[in-house]
Amino acid sequence: MRKTLLNYICCPFCHGTLDCMTRGYENGGKSIQEGLLICQKCKRWFPVRNYIPELLPDHLRNWETDEKFLYSLDLNIEKKILKKIKKKIKHCRKNALKIKDSGVSYKKSEISIKKKVSDPNFFGPGYFSPFNPGNTDFTMQLIRRFGNAVPLLNPKQHDIILDVGCGYSWTTEWLMKMGTEPIGIDICRTYLDIGIERMGKNIPHLILADTENLPVKKKCVDAILCYDAFHHIPDRKKTMGHFNRTLKINGNIVLTEPGLDHEAAAPSQEAMKKYGILEKGMSLSEVKDYCENLTLLKPQQYFIIKVTSSEQEKILTPQYIHSHSFIDTQLFVIKKISKP
Ligand SMILES: [Zn+2]
Repeated sequence: MRKTLLNYICCPFCHGTLDCMTRGYENGGKSIQEGLLICQKCKRWFPVRNYIPELLPDHLRNWETDEKFLYSLDLNIEKKILKKIKKKIKHCRKNALKIKDSGVSYKKSEISIKKKVSDPNFFGPGYFSPFNPGNTDFTMQLIRRFGNAVPLLNPKQHDIILDVGCGYSWTTEWLMKMGTEPIGIDICRTYLDIGIERMGKNIPHLILADTENLPVKKKCVDAILCYDAFHHIPDRKKTMGHFNRTLKINGNIVLTEPGLDHEAAAPSQEAMKKYGILEKGMSLSEVKDYCENLTLLKPQQYFIIKVTSSEQEKILTPQYIHSHSFIDTQLFVIKKISKP
């Protein structure tokens, strides 16, 4: 984790400022490989493991693993502080039982996907993303989708862009290489670790987090990208509320997501059955519902269509647009405004 990430992240529980404890910094004092983040306000603590801060809410954490990590850190923590941390663990574990989260089973399935996968090549594409040498069509689709979504973010040099549900993080990597400062967020550590392996030393900001408990400070983000990710989120209204909170005025949220027929498609059905993850597409009117009562303009759907010179002056009926679509996804853009 690069030190500058501390300017943008906060406690997922109370949005308090996070202090960092580490044995030392790497990369000329700029990165933290392992350490602890402690909330100034509620005193919750979070691990930084293999360069990634893990900012999950109490009910999605693996407390056994986290406690083991804490004791293995050898941070020379004062006895008094360590006692407080131990007390906090007890409190958080108790609190976790009280948290109501109707999407918890989907989230836990995503977090532990590695355990359910038997195909040895399942994670293979992540080491080359977005390039999949075994599937040229899919590779082209991924790049085309990205190329069409990014201009809608209105990105400028050094802009902070949240890349939500970044998975193998190639979109985050490309946004960084374009000169912006993206922050990739995913709930599944396995995907992020593969991304880190692929990218080597030059990695963008990455966080392990739940978007419904987004650990990002208010009004600090220039744009938000959900690349094939929003349709996996159970509570979309809650997530949109966090986008509204963290986005600067005039910033754009761009969703590239499948349509309503997505959950009925055979691969989605199989993914839901086999891995327990949520696959639920959306319509423009549903996206409007997610944005209700927030300081956001009405969502707009953008179409990218293939038109030849002989088709000029055709009327753009919904059927015409559908049959001439250049991308295999829906593009929604939502702008934040100062007042509703
Ligand atoms: Zn806190």
